[in-house]
Amino acid sequence: MVEAFDLPERILMGAGPSEVPPSVLRVMSAPLVGHLDPYFLKIMDENQTLLRYVFNTKNEFAIPISGTGSAGMETALCNMLESGDGIIIGINGLFSMRMKDIAERCGAKVHVIEQQLGRVFEPEQVEEALKETGAKAVALVHAETSTGACQPLQDIGRIVREKDALFIVDAVTSLGGVPVDVDANYIDICYSATQKCLSVPPGLAPLTLNERALEALENRRTKVQSWYLDLNMLRNYWGDERTYHHTAPISMNYALNQGLKIVQEEGLEERYERHKRISDLMTEGLVEMGFGLFAQEGHRLPMLITVTMPPGVDADRTRLELLQRYNIEFAGGFGELKGKIWRIGLMGHSASEKNVYYALSAIKKVTRK
Ligand SMILES: *Cc1c(COP(=O)(O)O)cnc(C)c1O
Repeated sequence: MVEAFDLPERILMGAGPSEVPPSVLRVMSAPLVGHLDPYFLKIMDENQTLLRYVFNTKNEFAIPISGTGSAGMETALCNMLESGDGIIIGINGLFSMRMKDIAERCGAKVHVIEQQLGRVFEPEQVEEALKETGAKAVALVHAETSTGACQPLQDIGRIVREKDALFIVDAVTSLGGVPVDVDANYIDICYSATQKCLSVPPGLAPLTLNERALEALENRRTKVQSWYLDLNMLRNYWGDERTYHHTAPISMNYALNQGLKIVQEEGLEERYERHKRISDLMTEGLVEMGFGLFAQEGHRLPMLITVTMPPGVDADRTRLELLQRYNIEFAGGFGELKGKIWRIGLMGHSASEKNVYYALSAIKKVTRK
């Protein structure tokens, strides 16, 4: 007999993974069927339908990429970009920097627009950059998990559409927590991940493309540089033909199916409302204790609160103590924010009153010294 893991009982309030509902964990231990079994094909179909629902899109194409959120990012960029293509990337945090790295590896000409950490882009900034460069695509992060800022999309999306460019949006942290509304925001390619506000373990990256994006894919002069992430082949696997490409991770697709059904049962609007209510509760408590709010006012994410410390409180030491003494996981800051902020995740199943009250009491303990 293999000994059971000696697992700590963590409360996941970091930058993801979030807590996973027990029923999702249960379906992951269900027996496997073959990946071309009629039963599994039905799960694949359902997952596509459920993804259209959470993305709020009429797009036919909506699949989970086998891989984490970064695989979704890489899929979006390497299918849309060929060597020499221009892309405007808005950089205001860690994940947009990752986009730039990937786009450069695709041989694209990257035009960077910048904002301070914690701040969001104005439509004029994008409009100007598009006029100057005539770039083929614009890429932005909707919910910048490294800073806590929520990027408004609709006005920028409209501008990108008017200029006939492609709008690529990272909705890894936002999907299921705030409205992503792919169609209403003029998003052409949108990707996410399972382990943030969808509350499914890490391992799949939901992705959707509209007709404009599919046309760009069909009009490529060169093959997509990644074999595994080539959407031409993935389309045939997930479409009517079911042509074998790779073995879809069976258990993860069970988990996604169950996780998305839970989202549907709660209802998207109700889910957004819960994230906001729980986030407000947490924020009030933190402000009362003297924490500062880091992200730009009016553009703060509900599911990821970034706070600066009250005087005399060491961010990293207290964070470690919260983990070791109270089993609470918060995330720390990246780069220049390292040691300066906490990033508190209230994503999906983790966004509960129970977690907020427990965390606030624990924070009181570790900061009163
Ligand atoms: C977490 C995250 C990613 C990367 O996802 P992984 O699942 O860690 O690969 C990308 N973008 C944003 C905004 C994220 O929060």
